Amino acid sequence: METKKLFDLDSYVKEFEATVLSCEENPKQADSWLVVLDQTAFFAEGGGQPADQGILGDASVTHVSEKAGVISHHCDKALEVGSIVKGCINWDVRFPHMQTHCGEHILSGIILKEYGFHNVGFHMGKDFTTIDLDGELTADMVRNVENLANKAIGENVPVFAAYPDKEALASIPLRKKPEVDNLRVVTVEGYDWCGCCGTHVAHSGEIELLKIVDFQRYKGGTRLFFHCGKRALQDYQMKHSMMKALAEEFSCKPEGVADAVHKLQQDLNDVKSQLNEKNKLLFGFLGEQLKASAPEVNGCKWLFLYGGFSADEAKTFAMNMAKQDDLFCTFFMPAGDAVRYALSRSKNVDSLSTKTLCQAMNKALGGKGGGNDDLCCGSLPNLSEEELKTFFAQQLEL
Ligand SMILES: [Zn+2]
Repeated sequence: METKKLFDLDSYVKEFEATVLSCEENPKQADSWLVVLDQTAFFAEGGGQPADQGILGDASVTHVSEKAGVISHHCDKALEVGSIVKGCINWDVRFPHMQTHCGEHILSGIILKEYGFHNVGFHMGKDFTTIDLDGELTADMVRNVENLANKAIGENVPVFAAYPDKEALASIPLRKKPEVDNLRVVTVEGYDWCGCCGTHVAHSGEIELLKIVDFQRYKGGTRLFFHCGKRALQDYQMKHSMMKALAEEFSCKPEGVADAVHKLQQDLNDVKSQLNEKNKLLFGFLGEQLKASAPEVNGCKWLFLYGGFSADEAKTFAMNMAKQDDLFCTFFMPAGDAVRYALSRSKNVDSLSTKTLCQAMNKALGGKGGGNDDLCCGSLPNLSEEELKTFFAQQLEL
């Protein structure tokens, strides 16, 4: 027997009484029972709208599913078959679903009227609700439909569900061709007419606010991300706080933040290229100084450096030095709880292997990383200059 749907013509039924027709253990989940009632106000997941939650008797309803018109309430306790139980819908979960679902209809109706694109997918997620369209919207078009949707919300037009007969159905400008007989048509007066099983607000004004937060190309069309009601307001509040903090940080008005960030990026790029130029000079001087005091090892000079540069700079320095002849470089840069290393060897040196020494160092000192005989990079635990120097002096038999 199909379950009588109390939400079908009245989405505002929050409490109801019903008889328990069956109660079976959920084969797919432990400590879960599937309860079937003669009637219910719990909406089962479907048509892009998530399931309701709430209380049934003394059990919590965590999910609601429907198969062939029979609605199963997924409960955390078993309920006695034949008993009459009171059901209570969690309105904090349901009402935002009604706002968002109705917002989706309004947006879809407006997009079809304005641009001729169809809604081909709808998903109401925890973080975002999306509509997939079969055409490409531009940023201006997105702004236009968002404005029109909020105008429709402001007009507070009636929204209702009905089962029109064949004759009446023929005169309704349905957004989608009917796929079933006895179609349930949800009307947003003046904006949208669509076959739908979902729950909606009774007047568009209850949606409060609709904000499209993003859009992207998707399967040759467009995917829109949007929020309605409190969720849209919360999004605005969060972004406003962020924008205010950024504006204060940059000592500008919120509308000047993008330019300020762009300028900061440019300044940073300028500073980076100046630093690279200065490093080139510094590497030249420092390289000569290190070479002057470097000990001879197996026919080459061993250059040791600890600190003073970033890991990337040390790597560049090590690579630059290896372009000269007769050098073996071991550069270590403390960074937080670790020491980053760059080891390099001149092309003409074959009396020692950078790779083998790096592997021995990693093994002995607990390091990670590697490379080849030209260059090895990685990190070690936080070791001192003395410890590292001693290790290499032993390895190189100095
Ligand atoms: Zn719908």
